[in-house]
Amino acid sequence: MFYITENFLSIQGEGKYAGFPSYFLRTGGCNMVCPGFDTPYEVRGAAKKGCDTYFAVDRAFKPEWLAVESVEQIKALRGLERVDDVVITGGEPLLYYKDAVFYETITYLQSRGKRITFETNATVLIDFERYPAYKECVYSLSIKLSNSGEPKAKRLNAKAIEAIVKNAKESYFKFTIDKALTQTTALQEIEEITQGYENDIYCMPVGADRHQIWQNDKTVFQFCIDNGFRYSDRLHIRVFDDTKGV
Ligand code: SF4
Repeated sequence: MFYITENFLSIQGEGKYAGFPSYFLRTGGCNMVCPGFDTPYEVRGAAKKGCDTYFAVDRAFKPEWLAVESVEQIKALRGLERVDDVVITGGEPLLYYKDAVFYETITYLQSRGKRITFETNATVLIDFERYPAYKECVYSLSIKLSNSGEPKAKRLNAKAIEAIVKNAKESYFKFTIDKALTQTTALQEIEEITQGYENDIYCMPVGADRHQIWQNDKTVFQFCIDNGFRYSDRLHIRVFDDTKGV
């Protein structure tokens, strides 16, 4: 059994496949909190801070999550048949990689010809030999940098990154950075993580809403030009601001 917090048909707004019509499954639960991304929210009157998908991270929202106990629930999702791309995001979706229903979901989607992209923080070491379907997926390696507010030992797992890059048919790096980080350690941190890999590197501005993106986008854009990285925007936020489920 695994949990999803929302599912919807939309357009991918980030990374290599930005602009592609995609069906999104957002899983519930994460092994990080990322308070540095500074999105304020409230739980039972208490003020908290997290990332822009705090509702898929903080277990206080678990009563609102949907338990997927059978792949039949996935087969019944309307809109899934209309697109070739399925994006499995979170939270951290790979926390469920050994779960029987989750794995059956992956193999079912593959049997329907879907390209599956995992948006992952790349801290989960996948056993690709035991679960070979994961080799046929795309991995958007959204590895967190120091601006996430998480300690390095928690946000970086070199073996997990290596296993994905070596085994998966496709993967790319995608870093979420802000103006302050571009002026300090962003380049050094990115180089440390990506050295030895040939994968494309995307940088994307921090921003849970349009206003926050506007504060960071030009600097991140220039940072990409200066360092030969690819710029990724966040199209869904440009268009819909901080509306959920789009
Ligand atoms: S790893 Fe991703 S989903 Fe988890 S808390 Fe950090 S930004 Fe949010």
